[in-house]
Amino acid sequence: MKSSADVSSTMMKVDLSINHFLDRAGTLFPTNEIVSRLPDKSLVKHTYAQFYERTRSLAQGLKDLGLKKGDRVATLCWNHHAHLESYFGIPAAGGVMHTLNLRLSPDEIAWIANDAQDRFLIIDDILLPLYRQIEHKYKFEKVIVFPFSGAQVPAEFMDYESWLASTDSSHFEYAPHSEDDPVSMCYTSGTTGRPKGVVYSHRSTVLHTLVASLGDFWSLRGTDVVLPVTPMFHANSWGIPYGAVMMGVKMVFPGPHLHPDDLLDLMQLEPPTLSLGVPTIWMGLIQAYEAALTQQPGRWKLPAGMRSLVGGAAVPEALIRAFDKHGIWILQGWGMTETSPVCTISYPKAELRDAPLDERYRRAAMAGIPVPLVDLRIRNDEGQDQAWDGQHVGELQVRGPFITGSYHHVPVSEDKFTGDGWLRTGDVASVDTMGFVRITDRTKDLIKSGGEWISSVDLENALMAHPGIAEAAVIAIPDEKWSERPLACVVAKPGQKPQAEELAAHLLKMGFAKWQVPDRYEWIASVPRTSTGKFYKLKLREMFPK
Ligand code: ADP
Repeated sequence: MKSSADVSSTMMKVDLSINHFLDRAGTLFPTNEIVSRLPDKSLVKHTYAQFYERTRSLAQGLKDLGLKKGDRVATLCWNHHAHLESYFGIPAAGGVMHTLNLRLSPDEIAWIANDAQDRFLIIDDILLPLYRQIEHKYKFEKVIVFPFSGAQVPAEFMDYESWLASTDSSHFEYAPHSEDDPVSMCYTSGTTGRPKGVVYSHRSTVLHTLVASLGDFWSLRGTDVVLPVTPMFHANSWGIPYGAVMMGVKMVFPGPHLHPDDLLDLMQLEPPTLSLGVPTIWMGLIQAYEAALTQQPGRWKLPAGMRSLVGGAAVPEALIRAFDKHGIWILQGWGMTETSPVCTISYPKAELRDAPLDERYRRAAMAGIPVPLVDLRIRNDEGQDQAWDGQHVGELQVRGPFITGSYHHVPVSEDKFTGDGWLRTGDVASVDTMGFVRITDRTKDLIKSGGEWISSVDLENALMAHPGIAEAAVIAIPDEKWSERPLACVVAKPGQKPQAEELAAHLLKMGFAKWQVPDRYEWIASVPRTSTGKFYKLKLREMFPK
């Protein structure tokens, strides 16, 4: 007789692979469209059938160039169809796509390409001036230029289009791989120390895609039209290109045109049902839109019912309310390059079904609850777990199958990973009884005044809820008596400039204690942005050292 311990799973062991998404797109959704905005602002359309063929040609072409398994192929590109081809074509050939951030300095880009040992580079022709500042610092073996603007590619480079056209992919076969093989890599921003490489695998990418596509998150449907404003060179555009191809949904790429007016124009031409971006871009969008309502009525309409995923930095409640006024509900997500990136999303749980609208806004302004497969905990400085009571704060630590366990070529260190295998995010947060995470600050942005912590994020959100304020970023400045005090750097809305006393009264009304209210305000024209479009507090600290 067999013992009950004899049973094993009867399920097939099939490696998870993003190549499966590519095959689905080519087979099941051949007629759906991928739209890209070109440098001259015209639109070019490809079908998924064309995308499939072109991607296979890219993969075959790379193999013909001698690409070996694991070789890094860098991209220096805006959001468009050819970048999407790299997302799938490079791994299909067995390579690792390495997205370079075009907003970094030439020195940083060269340093990162060297650290990753990138072999080939695929670059937009309009970025060749940037390449000219990099070429003597790092030598790519081959430079393949995508003629994004339609201009002739200089003879010294390979022309992406003619290369694809001359490649015979009829016998293309995927490079042999396992689910743990790398598909792409991205460097962290390096606001503390040098940038560090995060390497994603087939497995992590597939799992992240499945989780992020669930209802209540991206909620991807066949009839969706997706507008990724988040750069494809940063955290894989939050992974949406993989989800969109998996479901074969229509995509609209903004190319290099990220000005609010351009995005609003594009939304008229190709109304999205789902859009993704950082809060700063969404703030610009709503300000331009609302100004036009009075100055140029009828110029734009926000796409009715569009879902919008906003994250990468705290999303002010005022922004959520402003969009909701026009019928657009913002879903906030929290994540990092290290976490693929979606880790938490704020959506109305069943318990909140009948909650008053104010409560739903308040929740939407939180980072949200962890997505499936992600574990999280809050630890204090002594390494003790903090209660999920919405009160206790500590460092947010996460663990899961799409969270990095190390950095490329960097020994695992205690300041980044705990001994028991969790990623230390460097974010300070609390979790409440419903599991909603509230990010208070980044460790390095916290303000310590008279021995008490002040959350810069809370102050910023409250200031941005004032009708006269367009943007606010709060930093710590040294103070003899209190050790640090908050300094608010504020951008006024056109024609407004509220006085410091008025802002202080507003903050007191919003529930801040007197000692938490900034004693100083600096009026600036705009808050400096990081390479990924977030508020650049390091720069503000340089501008206002005391
Ligand atoms: P960087 O911002 O350094 O360029 P990442 O994109 O990896 O690189 O940023 C991750 C960080 O962004 C997080 O650690 C956190 O500080 C911040 N962040 C992301 N999403 C949110 C959010 N919803 N609320 C507050 N902070 C966020």
